[in-house]
Amino acid sequence: MTDGVLISMRGIQRFYRMGEHVVRALDGIDLEIGRGEFVVLMGSSGSGKSTLMHLLGCLDAPSAGRVFLGGEDVAGLPDGRLSQVRGRRVGLVFQQFNLLNDLSVLENIALGMLYSGVHRGTRLERARLYAERLGLGDRLTHRPSQLSGGQAQRVAIARALANEPDIILADEPTGNLDSRTGAEIMEVLYDLHRRGYTIIMVTHDPRYAREGTRRIVLQDGRIVEDAPGRRPVSVVDAALPGHPERRGRGMRPWDLLRVGIREGLLAHKMRTALTMLGIIIAVAGVIAMSSFSLGSKRKQADQIRALGANLMRVVDARLEGEKLSAARVGGSPGLSLADLELLRRDVPGIARSAAAREIRLNVVAESARPLAPRILGVQGDYLEVNNLALAEGRFIDAWDQEGNARVAVLGHALAERLGTGSPIGHELILGGNPYRVIGRLANRNLDIQGLEATGATDANYDLLIPLRTLLNRTRVFDMRSQIDEIQLQLEDEDTLMAAGVAVRRLLHVAHGGQEDFQLVVPLDLLKQKQQAQKLLDVLTFCVSSVALVVGGIGIMNIMLASVRERIREIGIRRAVGATRRDILLQFLTEAIVIAVTGGVVGIALAVAVVAGTCLAFELPIVVSPVMILVSVLASTATGLLFGLYPAAQAAAERPVEALRYE
Ligand code: ADP
Ligand code: MG
Repeated sequence: MTDGVLISMRGIQRFYRMGEHVVRALDGIDLEIGRGEFVVLMGSSGSGKSTLMHLLGCLDAPSAGRVFLGGEDVAGLPDGRLSQVRGRRVGLVFQQFNLLNDLSVLENIALGMLYSGVHRGTRLERARLYAERLGLGDRLTHRPSQLSGGQAQRVAIARALANEPDIILADEPTGNLDSRTGAEIMEVLYDLHRRGYTIIMVTHDPRYAREGTRRIVLQDGRIVEDAPGRRPVSVVDAALPGHPERRGRGMRPWDLLRVGIREGLLAHKMRTALTMLGIIIAVAGVIAMSSFSLGSKRKQADQIRALGANLMRVVDARLEGEKLSAARVGGSPGLSLADLELLRRDVPGIARSAAAREIRLNVVAESARPLAPRILGVQGDYLEVNNLALAEGRFIDAWDQEGNARVAVLGHALAERLGTGSPIGHELILGGNPYRVIGRLANRNLDIQGLEATGATDANYDLLIPLRTLLNRTRVFDMRSQIDEIQLQLEDEDTLMAAGVAVRRLLHVAHGGQEDFQLVVPLDLLKQKQQAQKLLDVLTFCVSSVALVVGGIGIMNIMLASVRERIREIGIRRAVGATRRDILLQFLTEAIVIAVTGGVVGIALAVAVVAGTCLAFELPIVVSPVMILVSVLASTATGLLFGLYPAAQAAAERPVEALRYE
């Protein structure tokens, strides 16, 4: 092969199988084209001209034979290398211009450089240079649809030139133009040739038959004529602005993102938004639901702790009639202060304890509103165990108990009902006897709803008197148990279980095996409740996953339709040097951007909804960072998963077929 030879073809065949039939589009082509030639390729329709151009342009591979471009055997190259060679060595110009309509003139010209990794700034700068060279300086921001045919073809030529190719391949470049504009484009090509470019042009127009350095005529896939034209071979070395710096690793990540967002998604805003909606709803759903679930759990836990930490209550069964006598006959004296003593002595880990008994007494007071309190006789560390605090005055002490004192402590709401000002020192008549108010409880802001199962009551309406006073000074009790309730506060949460077992065992013996008491551990009830909620959480998770999958299928559906619709775009990108991988990544990026954006908007939506709702319903605002992370990961994975197939479909498009698609 001599030094000046740029293209060399040996025994090229290109067959198309059409069922039984084989079309021999090219049937034994041997050809050498040197640097600086201007080849005019002619032949009747169907003679194989375009097929030959596609082989030269590395858009297609021959069925047999070898093609050398600049000494490199391109027939056997893998797609990535082939696309690189195409992007660098050949500039393609088509009859139908093949410009991307969503891009400006400038960006169309810069398109090829995108795929050889040229920096965006450099790309646009060079594109401007070529645009000006081709007389498009005042059309840079126009869209291809706003251009005349001649201008569009100039853009296509500028794009072909921008990567500084060795060869310009023009397939009927004047075919879609009127003769005057066609002549203009020819002038452009002649000019390029004079500057040193090697040009191969297909044409039907007999006017240009002798206008090159050489004329080749094809017929039925064979060369039937190869004659010199009237132009001299160009000896100038094509020395335009010099090769742009290339990275040789394909698209830059930022360019990938820009192309995905601007040229893929923003070009179809409505469609993108609707596709995104599926993901938004799924992600917002998961986060909102999990936040509400977490919030209500937190609230319950707070409430339980507000009732008294590590609390265990032994509650008298309050048997009546026959059951009561049966229990007494069975050997149980009912719940009593003796039981409390027993438990305090024999159950390990008890920090504090208290006992209480309710009594119904007629209440007379000088108050505006009826008091209707719950009257409790209490003993021991009642305040501490129940997590109560005094607002003023003092609490019932051992002296009061010893002396059977007629003193009372009022709940917050009760004190308010009594009237304005401090209730300390006031007298109340309980069951005909005067009681002096010695203290007032602080308000306890506790939402009692949802805590019924724990037996919690509202301490704000309680009227507390010494238990001993109640037992000794009020009327006697037939067979009823001495007290209603024993309250034990354990040293820590972990001892609750063991203590529970011990309490049950001791009281079982003390009560002669009669089950006339009940053990209530609020924390256990909370745990049970949260266990039940877990099922709901799992259900929520399942529904959300399904929603996400449906969203993903939506993405896939739209992406598949989008690939079908954009086949021509894919062909154009491939023709200017995009590899399969570039196309795959472009469509994958679009899918992932949809999914991730949907995820982020979903999170924002969820946070807004959760914050609003929690404020309205006085729930603690809990947004789990883990859930947010999981949602983002899940939506990214969804985009990746459901975008992969359409993207692979796009990448599998063969450039020649894609360009033919109309
Ligand atoms: P020209 O460009 O000279 O008009 P082509 O190179 O396009 O001709 O086509 C040459 C022959 O190959 C024609 O008979 C055409 O029908 C056939 N051909 C081209 N492409 C295909 C294809 N993808 N599948 C089947 N036949 C094809
Ligand atoms: Mg053709």
